[in-house]
Amino acid sequence: MDVISLCSDLIRCKSVTPIDDGAIECVSSFLKSLGFETTVLTFSSPDGSNSIKNLFAKYGSSKRKTLGFLGHTDVVPPGNDWETDPFAALQKNGFLIGRGAVDMKGSVSAFCCAVQQFIRQKFDGTIEFFITGDEEVGSYEGTRSLIKWVCENAYMPDDCLIGEPSSQKNLGDVISLGHRGSMNVMVKSYGKQGHSAYPENYKNSLSDLCRYVAKMVNYAWKHEDKRFPSTNLEPTLLFASNYAVNVVPDESSANLNIRFGGDYSADSLKQILLDEAKEFELSLEFFLSGEPYYCNDENLKRILSAAIKETSAIDPVFSTAGGTSDGRYMIRYCNIIEFGLLDAAMHQKNERVKISDLRKLEEIYLAFLQKYFA
Ligand SMILES: [Zn+2]
Repeated sequence: MDVISLCSDLIRCKSVTPIDDGAIECVSSFLKSLGFETTVLTFSSPDGSNSIKNLFAKYGSSKRKTLGFLGHTDVVPPGNDWETDPFAALQKNGFLIGRGAVDMKGSVSAFCCAVQQFIRQKFDGTIEFFITGDEEVGSYEGTRSLIKWVCENAYMPDDCLIGEPSSQKNLGDVISLGHRGSMNVMVKSYGKQGHSAYPENYKNSLSDLCRYVAKMVNYAWKHEDKRFPSTNLEPTLLFASNYAVNVVPDESSANLNIRFGGDYSADSLKQILLDEAKEFELSLEFFLSGEPYYCNDENLKRILSAAIKETSAIDPVFSTAGGTSDGRYMIRYCNIIEFGLLDAAMHQKNERVKISDLRKLEEIYLAFLQKYFA
């Protein structure tokens, strides 16, 4: 099957998380037709309210070397005002348009088709696919459960390619080696309600909260680990349930999101945030999305760069910019490297991929497979 047909079939599945709409089966039946052993795994939340389809597929039994590909078939909701039906997979002016075209039904299709070509020749090694139906939301019954299952069944590969969009201006210009960590903090501030004209009678929770937020936004984060962009903290919400203009609120809250490089761990950040909060009457709750991670494997970097250079005459740069990916769950068990389509259209309306880029990505992946198993 051709990469454009496979990608179009996948786009036609309205697989907005947690709905699958046949997307996992579409990849599974394609891989089965190539001779893969496929296992569709449905994981459910303990209370049964969420159920996600995932796919594990394996080709080859050689223990010499195992390469994994991690991808997802779920997409974010399309939103309104598209110029075409977001699930029709229409082609226009050299583009294939649809939700998931770049994130990441395109690269799933490109890797599937590269493998289809690659396994026509004999090779010594094993190829595995880890395809999840929930990367975009919580990943609990998606990537996280899938990885747990893969570990329990001893299917963890030596190395894993993640097909998330990584390219910036031209396909192949950026390989992602990792990402900063991400942590959310919910801050609650406490005071005493009162009339704003009588400062002696109240303690404004919101003033304290604003002082704390300003202090943390301006915090002098160290930046010694240059593998990552510098650490930044962004307030994403300031809230007080108070609509009177002359009443100071006794309770207010803020949400902060911190992106942090290798200079910090979640624990060391927590300590800083707590220490800086001591002068105020605040409570802090922490929600870790993932620690920073980085690909240290020189061989993966070298062969992926060479595959891109050879097929597109582009010399890629390595980057750790952008949001964290499911690589954060995988990095504990194997080497990972990320490379995929242009990231500009992801999660936007009228998401589209250049048809020539899809074909080129398949070529790059094929060259990567050849070098990996050489
Ligand atoms: Zn994605």
